[in-house]
Amino acid sequence: MKGIEIDDVRVTFRLPKLDIWAVDGVSAIFAGGRVTGLIGESGCGKSVLGLALLGLLPPYARVEGQMRLDGEALTPAKSRAMLGTRIGLIPQNPAESLNPARTVAAHLREALLPMKLSRRESDARARRLLADFGFDDPAPILRAYPHELSGGMQQRVLCAIGSACSPAWMLADEPTKGLDRDLRDQVRQTLGAMKSRGVSSMLVITHDLPLARGLCDGLAVMYAGQILEMGEDVLASPLHPYTRAFLDALPENGFQAMNGIAPRAGERGLGCPFAPRCARAMPKCHRNRPPAYAPKDGRRVRCFLYE
Ligand code: SF4
Repeated sequence: MKGIEIDDVRVTFRLPKLDIWAVDGVSAIFAGGRVTGLIGESGCGKSVLGLALLGLLPPYARVEGQMRLDGEALTPAKSRAMLGTRIGLIPQNPAESLNPARTVAAHLREALLPMKLSRRESDARARRLLADFGFDDPAPILRAYPHELSGGMQQRVLCAIGSACSPAWMLADEPTKGLDRDLRDQVRQTLGAMKSRGVSSMLVITHDLPLARGLCDGLAVMYAGQILEMGEDVLASPLHPYTRAFLDALPENGFQAMNGIAPRAGERGLGCPFAPRCARAMPKCHRNRPPAYAPKDGRRVRCFLYE
């Protein structure tokens, strides 16, 4: 099938004195031709899952389970080989993701290497890419060093770099993290423009709900290393108690604080990971891990309330 399939993926960081798990048995399908948002609080495992897909975790990370792209099994080496050609990456923090000692032209030329273009073709494509991302006059941008560009311009350059070889998939990792409000708005517009230009298979890892709401066709909600809810209209009609509590805690919903605290990295009980904080927890929630139920079309919810 077209898409990213993840089957019972676990990621554990093997430290000198203990193992710390970060992703705890995630199974999901991110369909091709759609923009899926992977949302959740900091530390829930969403960026680790994204890095596992790209084969970019450090050597002390153990990845178990199966991952496939368009039916082809992924290994870390294979994912890294696909990076830039079949999977594009829009990293977080534009200022730190660009090499301060290299011009935009040098970044784009390197990104275009897999296409094996002549210098003239490569330069022409670099200009076209910048024009696609809203630079009306690409020539001075190509000559510029990253520090000569605003944050919004840097992010658009990163989108151009990520799209250089027209990858079938794009993974955006917290594209608005740490940005001020104006910059966040610019990034939202840039990603929206990317979607309207045909980059339609995207996985957007974010805790920025306005971005997710405006851009994504479907959402997966992560908590404590697991996807607890997944579907199309999750924000409009959340079903999982965690999703509801997460949305209630937003400023626009009145900052209703969630009970308790999220489990620390490495803490894992037998049952539902949200049970210690859930107002509707039943005895079995503390003993058994809920499987994914399908209470309505296209929705998957890991909660015994939907048994
Ligand atoms: Fe709450 Fe139980 Fe559902 Fe977990 S499985 S969210 S504890 S009701």
